[in-house]
Amino acid sequence: MSTEEVYNINLCSEAFITFIKGRCESMINLYSEDENAIALKIADYAVSLGFEKCGIISVDAMKGYADKIEERIERFPETEKMLRSFTRFADLRKEFPWAESVVVCSRRVGVYRVPDNLNGVIGKHYLMDARRDRAAEGYHANAALEKYMAKDLQMQVASSHDSGITACRWAAMSAGIGVIRKNNFFYGDHGSYYAITAFLVDRKIEHIYVPTHRPCPDNCNLCIKNCPTGSLAEPYAMRAFTCASFLTNKCQDEAMFENFGSKLGLMLYGCDVCQDVCPFNKGKWLGDRDFPGLDELAANMTPEKIIAMDDEYLRNVISPKFWYIQPDDVWMWKRNAMNAIRNNLSNLKLNKD
Ligand code: SF4
Ligand code: SF4
Repeated sequence: MSTEEVYNINLCSEAFITFIKGRCESMINLYSEDENAIALKIADYAVSLGFEKCGIISVDAMKGYADKIEERIERFPETEKMLRSFTRFADLRKEFPWAESVVVCSRRVGVYRVPDNLNGVIGKHYLMDARRDRAAEGYHANAALEKYMAKDLQMQVASSHDSGITACRWAAMSAGIGVIRKNNFFYGDHGSYYAITAFLVDRKIEHIYVPTHRPCPDNCNLCIKNCPTGSLAEPYAMRAFTCASFLTNKCQDEAMFENFGSKLGLMLYGCDVCQDVCPFNKGKWLGDRDFPGLDELAANMTPEKIIAMDDEYLRNVISPKFWYIQPDDVWMWKRNAMNAIRNNLSNLKLNKD
């Protein structure tokens, strides 16, 4: 998941799928046998590491992302400053002049069991975040794929698993390993619960899948209708600063938080509503495996315990796991916890009345 995913900058259209299909058909003669063999080796190795799919596109394929950013700024001008910072993801050669291709891989996170007390309280993706977690399989898979490309295939490679080296969802959609739906999330073969990771490499290679995913039905608006803050204003368009994910893990404007506090229910960090209500996610969260260390952590993640937590524990244990709230900002956990308790009391009162 890259930073752009936190803000749900997504940027899809059905026309894009048609473009990808055409690209798949036309790519056949563009790459030599050698290049195709290398691309296949990378994709196969990625799958052997537990990634579901691995696609490879030219860095030039990322240029279209800049136009989508402009469209989004026009729609939501208040987000201009933040969105402009993502244009670096479109023009990758500016920072990495040697880069030729983007390798992008999807990994299911919906295989892990969600502790009961955290369902609907902390975004499920965040619970299974492997980017900095050395105990997690995903962490080692990212490192192993990078090492394979750098050492075995002798490529120059760059990655940034924390904030993303590029716009991962756009890259994944461009490589045909899934689609973006009206709720702005990436969907692979098993719904939207995926981690996506990307690498830049210095070889001109390509591995693009023909998309097989059905688009959202025209008459479905469940994600929009159920968005608790009204942030998902229309298909493929979301007001970043009022999304519950932003409010709970980035927003330091207390007036804005207060405006939306009552809509956040029991949420402490992130929101899954627009994914959980989606028919394409029905039955897709398997939850039959344990994510390392999650049960132990979950026992401490009640609002009451968070309010009583000392700063050292918040900084040293909670922050490394849920790192969108930085160590200096751990007060936000207490704010979110107090808000959840307040909302819970209001619910209890309503039910009593
Ligand atoms: S449902 Fe939640 S995650 Fe989705 S846009 Fe609305 S507030 Fe954000
Ligand atoms: S809820 Fe409906 S409109 Fe929203 S992403 Fe899912 S299928 Fe598409």
